Amino acid sequence: MAIARRKFDAVIVGAGGAGMRAALQLSEAGLKVAVLSKVFPTRSHTVAAQGGIAAALGNVTEDNWHWHMYDTVKGSDYLGDQDAIEFMCRQANEVVYELEHFGMPFDRLENGKIYQRPFGGQSQNFGGAQATRSCAAADRTGHAMLHTLYQRNVRANTQFFIEWMGLDLIRDEQGDVLGVTAMEMETGEVMVLEAKATLFATGGAGRIFQASTNAFINTGDGLGMTARAGIPLEDMEFWQFHPTGVYGVGVLISEAVRGEGGYLLNKDGERFMQRYAPHAKDLASRDVVSRALTMEIKEGRGCGKDADHLLLKLDHLGADVINMRLPGIREIAIKFAQVDPIKEPIPVVPTAHYMMGGIPTNFHGQVVAPYKTGPEEVVPGFYAVGECACVSVHGANRLGTNSLLDIIVFGRAAGNQIIEDLKKSPHHKPLPVDVADRTLARLARLESQKGGESVAQVGTALRKTMQAHCGVFRFADMLKEGVAKIGEVAERAAQTEIKDKSKVFNTARIEALELDNLAEVALATMVSAEARNESRGAHARDDFPERDDEKWLKHTLYFSTDRRLDYKPVRLKPMTVESFPPKPRVY
Ligand SMILES: Cc1cc2nc3c(=O)[nH]c(=O)nc-3n(C[C@H](O)[C@H](O)[C@H](O)COP(=O)(O)OP(=O)(O)OC[C@H]3O[C@@H](n4cnc5c(N)ncnc54)[C@H](O)[C@@H]3O)c2cc1C
Repeated sequence: MAIARRKFDAVIVGAGGAGMRAALQLSEAGLKVAVLSKVFPTRSHTVAAQGGIAAALGNVTEDNWHWHMYDTVKGSDYLGDQDAIEFMCRQANEVVYELEHFGMPFDRLENGKIYQRPFGGQSQNFGGAQATRSCAAADRTGHAMLHTLYQRNVRANTQFFIEWMGLDLIRDEQGDVLGVTAMEMETGEVMVLEAKATLFATGGAGRIFQASTNAFINTGDGLGMTARAGIPLEDMEFWQFHPTGVYGVGVLISEAVRGEGGYLLNKDGERFMQRYAPHAKDLASRDVVSRALTMEIKEGRGCGKDADHLLLKLDHLGADVINMRLPGIREIAIKFAQVDPIKEPIPVVPTAHYMMGGIPTNFHGQVVAPYKTGPEEVVPGFYAVGECACVSVHGANRLGTNSLLDIIVFGRAAGNQIIEDLKKSPHHKPLPVDVADRTLARLARLESQKGGESVAQVGTALRKTMQAHCGVFRFADMLKEGVAKIGEVAERAAQTEIKDKSKVFNTARIEALELDNLAEVALATMVSAEARNESRGAHARDDFPERDDEKWLKHTLYFSTDRRLDYKPVRLKPMTVESFPPKPRVY
């Protein structure tokens, strides 16, 4: 079958904050850039980010990047790579001012400077008083950011392929990456997009869980494509559960609520966080707060007739603060929880929110993996940034508002790296003859499969299994069973049938293709979690409640092709400052 081909200097899969920040760098340098997105760019999940972007501007309380670095290392439970964390924190102020100059409408303080609010895990003086570090546009920071980036890209002539889905990575016999195969979602047409540089910015994969704050499109496609192409996934056992998803719905209530002075209550009206984190209380790091909520429910102090949620109180902030700083939160609470937070508390539960792991990269956005059969090195032509990448700046637990920072810092850095790399190798490499075989085989299977289950059925089984077997607290027997169950689900996913093909839109095909990726992510998560016999950050094992630096201060690498695990050391040495050595983590 003859397949249409298009050639670009760079192909970027994903038009969220990460993809668009990288695209801007490249288009402004005069390169020919294609950006693919399953949805209109400004509907990417970045648009839903509420609370802010971290930078030690010091507009409200004294601050500096080194304190931010310390908090991030501690927040990561010492699994973050300290060179990358230094790189990110040092650039934070610059990239935020750059966004301001791009036209991003930040809120303002009385003196005209960018408005900042406190968030969990932020401290002054290496663990001292609460810092105020998150730059915000009300509770719609991601919305403001994404629209600004989109407009700048339109100005710079970035070419968007809207409602196009990347399907598979193209690698030659050497292992070099030469582009992707992709499908126009409306027509089903498949195309080869050839590139000197291919960058994945496909965002998170929270849809592997039943209850998630993530958009429906967050199905981990970049990870699926990467895993199928023989490149490992890093630290996939680490998933952040946000303490405050709306009970029964999963929609996020930003930590900004607690940053502005809201707090959590149990059924006795007790501010229980004081017991778990006497110093930071409701602004302890997210893994700590989510475990506290889960313990309260487990010990019978949950609210409601089933004692299965907690309450987030903010009415004491007053209508003015709520309407000015948290208008979107009020709207969400009224719509999804049927309570007006000006009068009543919001019912909340911990909800799957953010993927700390992902495609292994260095802090230039280059994918680093065992290449050919040799040791780890940069994979030529392949880059990843944003939530789909593991740099790793978040380690075992991300701090709130560090992700919007991550996507901007590393989006820009990857753009700069690609510009340099293309100066050295300015030509397209020849495509392999079997360029689209893997993709065409997957599509042919979907058309011909008879007698399989529906995609929805298998997807539900996958999400239920992840939710029950790999949640806030993890148990040895549940994980072991979970590995077997998810293995079965993956086999079922490979045999789904699209029912009544003459009547379906391509959405049914898209969902089937997404399920392949969800299955890759779910397997990677469960297998990696079962093997890690310690508790660190968001990975809390009932049978191994302590962190074990002697055995486990290392990154997990999961190879999908033979479901094998390997490990690599944490980069404890920063670029210019002293290392922060692991110590007990208390808030
Ligand atoms: C509700 C919510 C609130 C949040 N609030 C904050 C906050 O206040 N501060 C903070 O720091 N972080 C926050 N986060 C986290 C942060 O928003 C995300 O981690 C970050 O925005 C991810 O950006 P990204 O560019 O990597 O991916 P996304 O913005 O998710 O974009 C992914 C892009 O990839 C495209 N894509 C995916 N698969 C394919 C495919 N196969 N083919 C083509 N295109 C594809 C999508 O269409 C989309 O354009 C929040 C997250 C959520 C869910």
